[in-house]
Amino acid sequence: MNVIFFGPPAAGKGTQAKIIEQKYGLKQLSTGDMLREEVAAGTELGLEAKKLMDEGRLVPDDVVIGMIAKRIDSPECAKGVIFDGFPRTVAQAEALEKMLAERGKQIDIVMELDVDQDKIIERMEKRAAEEGRSDDNIDALKKRLQQYNEYSAAVLPHYRAKGDVPKIDGNRPVEGVTAQIETVLQGKDSAPLASCGGA
Ligand code: AMP
Repeated sequence: MNVIFFGPPAAGKGTQAKIIEQKYGLKQLSTGDMLREEVAAGTELGLEAKKLMDEGRLVPDDVVIGMIAKRIDSPECAKGVIFDGFPRTVAQAEALEKMLAERGKQIDIVMELDVDQDKIIERMEKRAAEEGRSDDNIDALKKRLQQYNEYSAAVLPHYRAKGDVPKIDGNRPVEGVTAQIETVLQGKDSAPLASCGGA
């Protein structure tokens, strides 16, 4: 099963993806984590991405699409993938659909984690204290939220046109959010989003 977790920064996508990864054997693919690994390793890609990330701007589509393409055939992805923070543009969504269709697969479910803005700020402040991410500051967050509002206005309708995009109330405590996600996953074994996969 291939799942997309869609939602604003600091909504809890990564936390939930890790829980679902453990429970269901799906592989979390987080483009944000991959980019942070590149930054930490000091690669050329990392150096270029860091500037954009610190400003809360998106890195180019071909960079993130390439990172996903490199991992999609790994044995860890065989049972399915939780796409976390990807796709963020319609071009990324289309590239993902093509990549999956070429492998006889599709996106089975897209979930929108919905979180109030004050909660996002609270969680980001907590994460900034715990993890020290350089883009977890109020200026970058404002830009990231603004970007989120822009790209979600394009990407969500893209998926809604293909099928239901259930909303998860991400304001609840971690376990409450997981329970909602599991309900959606369990109700959705075999019916893919209508035309994802382009078969
Ligand atoms: P995240 O950890 O998902 O919040 O991502 C952190 C930052 O990495 C974002 O603010 C973007 O600068 C960059 N990034 C992560 N995923 C993507 C993506 N799919 N497309 C473009 N930029 C991304």
